[in-house]
Amino acid sequence: MNVMYFEKDKNYKIHAGRIINCDGFFAAGRAPGSTLYVAENRIAAITHRNEVYRFSRPDRTAVEVDLAGLTIVPPLIDCHVHLALDGIDFTAALKRWDNQAELDRSIQEQLRDTLDCGILAVRDGGDRRGIARQAKSRYNAPLIKSPVHALRKPKTYGAFLGQGTKQQELENVLDHLATLGADHVKVIVSGVVSFKEYGQVGPVQYTYEELAQIVHGAHHRGLKVMAHASSDEAVSLSIAAGVDTVEHGYFLSDDSLAGLAEKRIPWLPTVIPVAAQLRNPTTGGSDRHNRYVIEKTVERQLAMINKAPGLGVVLGVGTDAGAGGVRHGYGFHQELELYKNAGLSNSQILQSATLNGANILNLDWGRIEPGYPAAFIAVAGNPLDNLAPLKHLKYAFLPGDSTSKQQ
Ligand SMILES: [Zn+2]
Repeated sequence: MNVMYFEKDKNYKIHAGRIINCDGFFAAGRAPGSTLYVAENRIAAITHRNEVYRFSRPDRTAVEVDLAGLTIVPPLIDCHVHLALDGIDFTAALKRWDNQAELDRSIQEQLRDTLDCGILAVRDGGDRRGIARQAKSRYNAPLIKSPVHALRKPKTYGAFLGQGTKQQELENVLDHLATLGADHVKVIVSGVVSFKEYGQVGPVQYTYEELAQIVHGAHHRGLKVMAHASSDEAVSLSIAAGVDTVEHGYFLSDDSLAGLAEKRIPWLPTVIPVAAQLRNPTTGGSDRHNRYVIEKTVERQLAMINKAPGLGVVLGVGTDAGAGGVRHGYGFHQELELYKNAGLSNSQILQSATLNGANILNLDWGRIEPGYPAAFIAVAGNPLDNLAPLKHLKYAFLPGDSTSKQQ
């Protein structure tokens, strides 16, 4: 896959097939044959067929790009990854944290896989060492949003995500995270889902008052809150406390879906980290009872995903890439297939994977329209008819960056 960076002081004329926005809105007519004009890292105009456009600075170098036959779509965005883990071997990944050269190699490989799958931005769920934050400062693409480490109660689930924060230290820790450049706050509201007992999830870690204090502290510093909430109890607590996204939400109730819709809180149902266990012999893929539990958990999550759009719940796509069996990049397309199995339309899936993700990450990358940043991918065929070609991307385009990060 080729990643092309626009240069701010050049004009670009891109001949494309279709140009579509993922809520089904066609930027330049349904028929193929559109031209996209880029100047100063932004989309300057979109024309159809023989319409003429003149750049405001025609004196600048003009670059022509031929993408005829391809469709231009907003970038895919993974709203939940863990760059500190590889999704292959948890213990080996943790060991790598102490070997900078090996860690670098692994992170570079993961970022390459992510880009190859058309994902141009990821939101990290945190790690104790702030490894995703380190990667963010070093690599241009994909764009990385990092919470540094996650907030969790000491002596509860999630030791690899954050060292544990006592409630009386909260304000200092939030100040520290903000100083380190955190893009959002990640909070572990509950334990994890069981693959052995259906409907079992680790306990809720916070009281309403404690969680509300975290949300208030984060918002006060201009940071959104990403809440790991695996049970319905954790989801309803997170909604009440006013978090900004709910992650996982296995076994969430109809009432919780209604609450998410009412408060416009996006839901990241992360089905693939559960579904992937069917192929994992250590967590139950080979045990008949465990298989049954995993299959039933997936089935229930898909049923709730099916209900979500009708109730007005905003869905993003988050893979928990790095979790057992979930590879960076590839897991995203597996998650999209699961959304398809849940009965969502291609248009609903694409909107979750692009525009909704962009909004969740506070990026204005969700639309292909004049005035928007020049960030997009080029894909064969029409993804509104068939999502499969999204897996085999040809090109990605990003606004140029003047910093000296690696590309
Ligand atoms: Zn996670």
